[in-house]
Amino acid sequence: MTVSSTATDHDVLVVGFGPTGAVASALLGQLGHHALVIDRLAGIYDKPRAIALDHEIFRHFDNMGVAEAIAPFVEPFTASEHFGADGQLIRRIDMAEKPYPLGYTPSMVFSQPAVEAELRRHAMSFSNVRAELGVELLDLVQASDRVEARLKDSDGRHRSVTARYVLGCDGASSTVRQIAGLGLEDLVFDEPWLVVDMCVNESALVHLPQCSAQFCNPSRPVSFLIGPKNHRRWEIMLLPGEDVRQMERPDNVWKLLSPWLTPHDGELWRAASYRFHALVAADWRNGRILIAGDAAHQQPPFIGQGMCQGLRDATNLVWKLDQVLKGVSSDSLLDSYTVERKQHVIELTSKIKAIGQSICERDPVAARKRDAQILSDGGGKPLLMTRQEIIPPLRAGCLSHHDTSARGSLFPQPRIASGGTARLLDEVIGAGWRVLIDGRSYDAVSMLSLCAARPDASAAAVAPAGAGWPNALEETEGVLTSWFDRHGVVAAIVRPDHYVFGTARNTSELGDLLREIEMLRRDAPAGQANPIPDQTMERTL
Ligand SMILES: Cc1cc2nc3c(=O)[nH]c(=O)nc-3n(C[C@H](O)[C@H](O)[C@H](O)COP(=O)(O)OP(=O)(O)OC[C@H]3O[C@@H](n4cnc5c(N)ncnc54)[C@H](O)[C@@H]3O)c2cc1C
Repeated sequence: MTVSSTATDHDVLVVGFGPTGAVASALLGQLGHHALVIDRLAGIYDKPRAIALDHEIFRHFDNMGVAEAIAPFVEPFTASEHFGADGQLIRRIDMAEKPYPLGYTPSMVFSQPAVEAELRRHAMSFSNVRAELGVELLDLVQASDRVEARLKDSDGRHRSVTARYVLGCDGASSTVRQIAGLGLEDLVFDEPWLVVDMCVNESALVHLPQCSAQFCNPSRPVSFLIGPKNHRRWEIMLLPGEDVRQMERPDNVWKLLSPWLTPHDGELWRAASYRFHALVAADWRNGRILIAGDAAHQQPPFIGQGMCQGLRDATNLVWKLDQVLKGVSSDSLLDSYTVERKQHVIELTSKIKAIGQSICERDPVAARKRDAQILSDGGGKPLLMTRQEIIPPLRAGCLSHHDTSARGSLFPQPRIASGGTARLLDEVIGAGWRVLIDGRSYDAVSMLSLCAARPDASAAAVAPAGAGWPNALEETEGVLTSWFDRHGVVAAIVRPDHYVFGTARNTSELGDLLREIEMLRRDAPAGQANPIPDQTMERTL
């Protein structure tokens, strides 16, 4: 469906064509909205910053139809081993085991410039998305029904365009954030680090650690990351008194890398110093102007979540903007964007900060105490953690009033038996709003009829393969069945961004949940209905 923009030049102006802006524009394009995306740079930043991404983000890439195109630039993330002040193993952070909860390797490494190029190509493949490069945003003026943006073209000429909403994906020094007067809150982390990316020769790779590692040595904390192919990264803490520009010089970089490599062992891709900050915007919306990605938050990269956070922003915001632009919901739905994403970012950043502070400990006595504590937490052995347990759920916002254990968490994605093979659930039933029902439940039939009575709610029942449950899709690995068992529920309503709106233990509770969604509909402008968009869902049963 194409939503035409009559009163304004565009439905949405996206400022910034980095990963956040590229995903936001592509999603808007996919949903039929007219988007203009601009970037003041003509090309993609050719050096990697982000190196890790996770299964939630890959699921969105798959839903968007870019997973295949980016797959050559993505590999599984090795475990990270943390070594204490005396070089002993204190902690191991690994991936969740198979069967994978979302259907993909839970943590991955990737090559940012190549993946960004594919994301941009994908966004520009929509005829309703227009990308203008070398174009800078100078100013924004809001009216009741639109925003006027003043732009500067690459030839220096100024012009104005109008859009119903503006999305600032323009990075850490965001012009949009400043114009909208959205201040930053300091989450109090500020450490200087040198980031070194190397393309290592084949012959030298075998001499390097075969796992990613954190050397929590108080004399100089260092992270080592195994990137795709022969890409290896060292993140090296800079010490008080060290001059950042001097430390970036190749002779100094090679000195720092000397425990691992010599200049004959590879090519220096880049060395750049960063201050690792923890900042979050106080508000993410001012009227028709919203911000996302690094424009809204920055965090230290210790578990590789900065870009992932930005893409969560984009996927959270775009389904809401879609409903508002289509007149299905009033624009107060957009208030839940700040509520949901700010809390999530603060909670995750505080966990990242705690890991960072523990890694950055410079006092040898405190560092040994830290090591002893981590080992004690592991029962006297190196502590084992999975990266995924660090990611929090949504706790407030556009969620059911009934706080159940799975509310706000990411809904899993089982593999469904299909014609002698297995397909992922999203591919089978789509990724819009959906009701998923435990096909083993006595209530399954009544819940399906309840949903069938509502033209706006699409539903599917899922049960273990081979057990002959009637009317149910058959899952092959038990991922969803064990999820229902773990949470003691038989149905879940899932949002387009895969977060669980609410769960039910029986038909009556599912009825309550559907009524809650009805209440959200009351918020819609007069004459409009149905907050559950239907275009990606087909009734499967
Ligand atoms: C050392 C390091 C390691 C990291 N590791 C990870 C990791 O492993 N995993 C992870 O998920 N994240 C990681 N991150 C974070 C990640 O790189 C960023 O969060 C991500 O790149 C931000 O994307 P963005 O699209 O929000 O912003 P950006 O990529 O900064 O894009 C903003 C765009 O806006 C444009 N722009 C700015 N102002 C204007 C204007 N006025 N007009 C027009 N265009 C404008 C810019 O030219 C730019 O292209 C790391 C970051 C660093 C520094």
